[in-house]
Amino acid sequence: MQQHDIFEGGHKLPLVEEFYTIQGEGYHTGKPAYFIRLGGCDIGCAWCDTKFSWDRNLHSLVETSRIIENASAYPAKAVVVTGGEPSMYPLTVLCHGLKERGIRTFIETSGTYELSGTWDWICLSPKLHHPPVGDMFSRADELKVIITHPSELKWAEECAARVSPHCLLFLQPEWSRHDQILPDLIEFVKANPKWSISLQSHKFMKIP
Ligand code: SF4
Repeated sequence: MQQHDIFEGGHKLPLVEEFYTIQGEGYHTGKPAYFIRLGGCDIGCAWCDTKFSWDRNLHSLVETSRIIENASAYPAKAVVVTGGEPSMYPLTVLCHGLKERGIRTFIETSGTYELSGTWDWICLSPKLHHPPVGDMFSRADELKVIITHPSELKWAEECAARVSPHCLLFLQPEWSRHDQILPDLIEFVKANPKWSISLQSHKFMKIP
């Protein structure tokens, strides 16, 4: 059986967790949203804070219709699909069902797979050793580059040169080293004001 078949064209998805919370990062920081975390990621960022999501086989396949119903129960009418790497899966069924219920669809992706579905907001967080495929740079509404060392700022600029003129640019210090990295980011953004700093404010708020 081909791997694609077990997802029944997107009618089933490997769900790690789903929760209603406040978006902590990037442009939508501070706004409530329902998060859907899908399992599976083969990129292997050393600093990843969701390593529990990497192995898709540890997470049950759940009916997409059930995920949509669960999301519908909350007042924000905004869903953030994250992972893992959610672009590994067929997401058209999920997006269609959410939109039918008037829910806006946001995704957080490294862009390493061709993205399916209809999205109101694409947050592209590229990874240096697994660059985005196809037209992911030009489709991004928001470019969020995680910085683990100041030397990566040059690469962040290379990514910024590939997005559309309307794409918002964020630099985010890797959480475990944010104290060390922030001073460099602050100076960089002051000198390059097209960028903004994104902090993982949900971690300061101690919420998921
Ligand atoms: Fe973790 Fe995201 Fe990197 Fe995958 S792409 S290893 S989920 S940070």
